[in-house]
Amino acid sequence: MRPSPRWFSQSLNRLAMRPKSTSFIGLGRMGHEMAYNLFSKQLAHSSDSHFVVCDAIPEASRRFYQNFLKQFPEAQISIAATPEEATLASQTVVTMLPSSPQVRSVYNEGIVPTLRNLPEELARNTLCIDSTTLDVEVARTVAQNVIQSGAQMVDAPVSGGVTGAKAGTLAFLVGGTESAFKYAHPFLSFMGQKIIHCGPSGAGLGAKICNNLILGVQQIVVGEAMLLGNKLGLDPAVLASVVGSSTGNCWSVSTNNPVPNSLPGKSPPCERDYEGGFATGLMLKDMGLATNLSSLAGTPLPLGEAAEHIYSQVIQEQPALERKDFSSVYQYLKDMSQQGKKVRVRYEIV
Ligand code: NAD
Repeated sequence: MRPSPRWFSQSLNRLAMRPKSTSFIGLGRMGHEMAYNLFSKQLAHSSDSHFVVCDAIPEASRRFYQNFLKQFPEAQISIAATPEEATLASQTVVTMLPSSPQVRSVYNEGIVPTLRNLPEELARNTLCIDSTTLDVEVARTVAQNVIQSGAQMVDAPVSGGVTGAKAGTLAFLVGGTESAFKYAHPFLSFMGQKIIHCGPSGAGLGAKICNNLILGVQQIVVGEAMLLGNKLGLDPAVLASVVGSSTGNCWSVSTNNPVPNSLPGKSPPCERDYEGGFATGLMLKDMGLATNLSSLAGTPLPLGEAAEHIYSQVIQEQPALERKDFSSVYQYLKDMSQQGKKVRVRYEIV
């Protein structure tokens, strides 16, 4: 028998609503857009749905709450002060947090103890979806704790950025059991278009980290090539078009090209002084996740380590670029070149 905490008897009405309620914890740049799509589409399917939002910054919850009620005045939405309250209120709990430390504390100090105190049946019906990009080992440990408390959990990191979150076109890379994946699928489909079951717990994150390792390296070499082309007198639009239709083509060339006027008719972040994309600080975090993972797995990562070092230098030397799109690494390389400095990474076999 599980102990019945005091708040349990005080919250009978709340618990009765639990099956129709969804909580979203972490309403930052991604979470705000994802929660909006999730809630509005759930509402369209079932008008008696309940929603709960929670963020460490109360203003973020209030902003979402007011915005959502303005669009859907009939919606039943409330703000939870803590992850405990959010878990108590809802059978489905989605988290979108910065990284490993926040996921560890929200789950191990908030969600998991609450699940352990719930009656077994309520815990068993609970689904946790974590869309944060974080360390695979931390995600696996947290999922194990959730599963031991009787609930189900998937890691479901995303690809597609804020634009994809807003448009509801994200790709979800999911790790977990087959049954947890099936349970999570309808919720994920309200926020994204591609939902891929990558394998057991942690597999979604593994896939996400490998993808971002490639992306982080590519964005630097595209910056190098565009800068070299510029020095050779090539028009950036001509060079982008040549590479874009040749074997060097990739997303960093044809969608996220770092040079203004290189993609006529498109509007990559470089056209807005590198605002509104994927922050250099987040890319540095993801390169760190990749290098940690490769040390644990014992695979070589010479280019990944070099890229991590370069993003770290960008932020150290030009702190304003930390929140700008990571394609601003081009701007950093250009500045170094204009100052007559060389950027080198040492290669060694040890
Ligand atoms: P963000 O920093 O804008 O949002 C994180 C939110 O979590 C903030 O509102 C913060 O207040 C809240 N938070 C932090 N600690 C908390 C706690 N203990 N309890 C409750 N709330 C807490 O970050 P973001 O850009 O939305 O990114 C979220 C995740 O998505 C990251 O793991 C990131 O790597 C990943 N991601 C981001 C993008 C992107 O383009 N921004 C793209 C793909 C993946």
